[in-house]
Amino acid sequence: MRVDSKEFHQLEVEETLNRLHSKRDGITSDEASALLEKSGPNQLKEAQLRDPLQILKDHLQEPMVYLLIFAATVSLFIGEFIDAAAIFIIIVLNTVLGFIQDYRAEKAMAALNKLAVPDVTVRRGGNEFTVKASSLVPGDIVLLNAGNRVPADCRLIESWLLQTQEAALTGESQTINKNAKAIESDKVPLGDQANMIFMGTDVSNGRGEAVVVRTGMESELGKIADLIQNVKSRRTPLQRRLAGVGKWLAALALGIVAIVFTLGILRNQDIPLMLMTALSMAVAAVPEGLPAVATIALALGAKRMLRREALIRKLLAVETLGSVTVICSDKTGTLTENRMHLSTLRSSSFELDFHRDFANIEETTEPLRELGKKPEALLSLFTGALCNDAKLENHHSPGDGSTNSLTAIGDPTETAFVTAAARVGLFNFELNNLFPRLTEIPFDSERKRMTTIHEFHPLEKPLQGAPIVDQTIRILTETRYESQLVLMKGAVDSVLNICDQVQTSEGPLEMTQSRRKEILESNDELASTGKRVLGLAYRWLKPKANDHRDSDIEANMIFVGMAGLIDPPRIEVKEAIKRCRTAGIRPIMITGDHPLTAKHIAAQIGIENQEQVFTGLEIQNLKDEELEKIVEQSSVYARVSPEHKLRIVKALQKRGHIVAMTGDGVNDAPALKTADIGIAMGITGTDVSKDASDMVLLDDNLATIVNSVEEGRTIYANIQKFLKYTMTSNCGEIWVMLAAPFFGMPLPLLPLQILWINLVTDGLPGLAMALEPGEKGTMQEPPRNPNDPVLGKRMIFHISLVGLLMGGIALGSGFYFWNQNPTDSYSASWGTIVFTVLTFSQLGQALAVRSSRYSLFQIGIFSNPALIGSVLLTLGLQLSVIYIPFFQVIFKTTALPLSQLLLCFLLSSMVFCMVEAEKWCKRKNWFK
Ligand code: ATP
Repeated sequence: MRVDSKEFHQLEVEETLNRLHSKRDGITSDEASALLEKSGPNQLKEAQLRDPLQILKDHLQEPMVYLLIFAATVSLFIGEFIDAAAIFIIIVLNTVLGFIQDYRAEKAMAALNKLAVPDVTVRRGGNEFTVKASSLVPGDIVLLNAGNRVPADCRLIESWLLQTQEAALTGESQTINKNAKAIESDKVPLGDQANMIFMGTDVSNGRGEAVVVRTGMESELGKIADLIQNVKSRRTPLQRRLAGVGKWLAALALGIVAIVFTLGILRNQDIPLMLMTALSMAVAAVPEGLPAVATIALALGAKRMLRREALIRKLLAVETLGSVTVICSDKTGTLTENRMHLSTLRSSSFELDFHRDFANIEETTEPLRELGKKPEALLSLFTGALCNDAKLENHHSPGDGSTNSLTAIGDPTETAFVTAAARVGLFNFELNNLFPRLTEIPFDSERKRMTTIHEFHPLEKPLQGAPIVDQTIRILTETRYESQLVLMKGAVDSVLNICDQVQTSEGPLEMTQSRRKEILESNDELASTGKRVLGLAYRWLKPKANDHRDSDIEANMIFVGMAGLIDPPRIEVKEAIKRCRTAGIRPIMITGDHPLTAKHIAAQIGIENQEQVFTGLEIQNLKDEELEKIVEQSSVYARVSPEHKLRIVKALQKRGHIVAMTGDGVNDAPALKTADIGIAMGITGTDVSKDASDMVLLDDNLATIVNSVEEGRTIYANIQKFLKYTMTSNCGEIWVMLAAPFFGMPLPLLPLQILWINLVTDGLPGLAMALEPGEKGTMQEPPRNPNDPVLGKRMIFHISLVGLLMGGIALGSGFYFWNQNPTDSYSASWGTIVFTVLTFSQLGQALAVRSSRYSLFQIGIFSNPALIGSVLLTLGLQLSVIYIPFFQVIFKTTALPLSQLLLCFLLSSMVFCMVEAEKWCKRKNWFK
C-alpha cells in the first residue's frame, strides 16, 4: 500500500512526521501561527452558551411578558390608548433591562469557560512552550504526562508506560496501554489503535510525546461532538428553589388578585378597569424575576471571584460555598509555598546541612573536597538529580563554576534536587547525556516513589572539567558495574521496603533490622521538624532480552541516603485558618506526606487537634462507621492515597458536613466529584482533576478558598436581601389594594402605576443589590444550612410586618386627604400621595435592608455606589412622573405642593426607621 493512502496508525513515526511536514523538534512557532489561520482553533463548537438572539427570545417568552401583552391588548380594546402605549414601552424597557443583565451574566460565564481551556506543553522549533490547547495545529509535537487531557488526535512518537482512559470517547472504562509502534491493518477500531491518542481522553499513567494529526471538529471527538453535547440543566438548587418559591407566591398572588377583582365587581367598579387592575396586580405580585436575579448574582459573583484567583467552573459552587462546613486541603502548595529547597542530606555516616556547608558554594573552588569525603552524599545527590523529570535550563558552560544563571523547571520536589546537585557541579543535563534514560516507572501518589533506568558505558578517559562527575562514576563503579543503572527516589518508607542493602563508607552492606530501624528513626527525626523527607536508592541491572517487569526492577535496591526538603507554610495561611474557625468551618489537612511532617506543619499554621494524626494505613483498617467517628475530631491525615480521600469525604458527608475538597492528581478525580465542592489546583493540578472540579484555585492557595467562601456567603445574602426588598414592596402594594375598599375608598393605585412601581422603581435598586459588598460579620457567622428555606420564618415575618407598615402608611396618608374631599377622581392628589409614599418608602426600605445587622450609617451610605445611584435615579424618575405634565397625563398624577411632597417624604421615612430599629434591637441582642 502506498504511504499516502495509509491511515496515521499504519505509518511509521518518521512517515507520520513527513506527512505532516513536521519533525521531532516540532514545527516552528511561525509555522504554527500560519497553520492556525488555515485549520482554525482546536476546539469543539460549543452549543452550551446562548447567543444574544436566544437570550432575547427567552426573555420575550416569559409569562410576565405574555401578561403585559395581554394587559396592553385589553387597554387597546377598551380604548385606553395611552395605557396601551405605556405598557408597550414598559415591555420594551423591561426586556432591554433583563436582556442586558442576562447578557452580562452569560458573557461572564463564557469568559470563565474560556479560561478553563487547558494548557498544553508543545515543542516548537526545538523549544518547549506552554500554550492553550485551542492553539494547537496538526504537526505540533505535544508532551503529555499522567493527568493530562489529550488535547487533539495525535500519533505517538515516544512513550514511556503510557496508558490512557478513553471512556469519554469509546465508553471503555479499562485503561489502555499505548506505544509508538505502527499497526499494519487499516481497519482497526479506535479502542485498538494503540499508537494513537484521542482528543478528550485522559493520560492515566506514564509519559508520551506525540504529533498532532487532527484538531477541533476534525478529531474523532469532534465527529461525535453533537452526540455528547448534553445540554445539562445549568440551574443550581437555589435557582430551582427560587423558581419553586416563585410558583408558590404566584398562586398566592393570584388568589389575592381574585379577591380584589371580586370585591371590585361587588362594589360595581368598572369591569375593564378591574380587569386591568387585576392583571397589573398579578404582574406586581408574581416574582418572576427571582431565578433571573439569582443567575445574575451568581454569575457576576463568579466573575468577582475570578479577581480573587478562584475560577468557578460550575455556578453551583458559588452557592454551595456559603454552606461549607469543612475544607479538606492538600498540604503541599495549598498550605505551604511549594517552593522546596534541599536543606539536609543524611545517611548513617554523614549529615550535610546544605545551608551551613554550602552557603558560599560559589566561593568554594573545590566543593569536591567536602563531598569527596562523603561518597554516599555524592551518590545521593547524583540519584536525586538524575532520577528526576525537572529540567535545568542551561545558561552555563560546564566547568566554569558559575551556577547563578541556572534555573530549574518542573515539580518543586524535583527542582530542589536538581538545583542542589548543580550547586556542587552535578548538572542534570550533563548527567542525562552520560546516563541516557532508557525507561522509567513514573512517580505516583499511591507508590510514592519513582524509578528510572539508565544506560551507562564506562568512559575511556576522565571528563574534562567535571571532576565531581568523575568522582561519582568512580564511587558507583567501585564495587560493581552492569550496563544499566536503576535509580529511585521517594518516600523513605516506600523506598526502604525494597532495599536489601545500604551504602556505607565501606561500600554496600546488608540491610539489617537495626540499620533499617536507624534509617526510619532518622527519617522521623527529620520529618518532625516539618521537612519533606525523600529516600534515595540505586542498583546496577543486567539487561534482559525481554523487557523487565516493574516488580523485577523495583527490588533489591541499595539505600544511599535521605534528603530533607524545606517547604515553608504560606504566610497568609495562618490567618486564613483563623478565619475558617470564626466562620464555623473546620480546616482539615490531608497529605501524602509523612505523619510527622504533617503534624509539624499543622501546628505551625494552627490546625486544631494536630497531635492526633491518622495515616492512610490506619484508615484502610477502619470500618466506615469507625471512620465516621474519627473524622468528627481528627483534622490531620497523612500518607493518604486518593482512595482514602474519597472515604474521608464520604464519612464527613455522612455526618452531615458540606465538604470542600482540594486535589491535583488524576486519582483525585473521584474525591473531587464526590465532594460538595471539588477544588482543583490551577498551577499544579492535572487536567483530569480540573475537569472533575467545580472550582479551580488559580493560585493553589487555601486563603483563596476562604475568600471564596466569604464571597459565596455574600452572594447568597444579597439574593436574600433582594428577595426581602421586592417581597416587602409587593406586600405593601397588595395591602393598599386589598384594604382600600374596606375604608370605602376607590382603587388607590392605577394599573400603570402598579406596573411602574414593580418594573421600574422596584427593579433598579433590586438589581443594584447584587453588587452589595460583604458585611463585616460575614465570616463570624456559622455556615448556612443548605436545607434552610430561602424564605425563612424570620424573613416572612419581616416581609409581612414591614409590608403592612408600608401599605398602612401609604393608604393612611391617602385616606387622610381623600377623606377631606371624598371623590372617585384618580387625578386627585390623594392618589398621587399613595403612589408617592409607596415608592419613597420602598426606597427607604432598599437602603435599610442593605445590611441585615448594621445600620446604614455603620456600613457607609456610599459603600454601594450602584445602589445609591439607582435610588437617586428612581427618586428622580418618580418626581418626573409627578411633576412633568406629559407623564401626569399618562400616570394620571397631580403635581403635589411642596408641603405635601415633604409630608410624603417624612411619612415614608418611617419604614426606613422601623427597619433600622429592628436591626438596632438585633444588635442589642434583644432577639436573635
Ligand atoms: P499533599 O497531598 O499534601 O499535597 P503531596 O501531594 O505532595 O502532598 P504526594 O505528592 O502524594 O503528596 O507525595 C507523597 C510522598 O511521595 C512525599 O512525601 C514524597 O516522599 C514522595 N514524593 C513526592 N514527590 C515525589 C517525586 N517527584 N519523586 C519521588 N517521590 C516523591
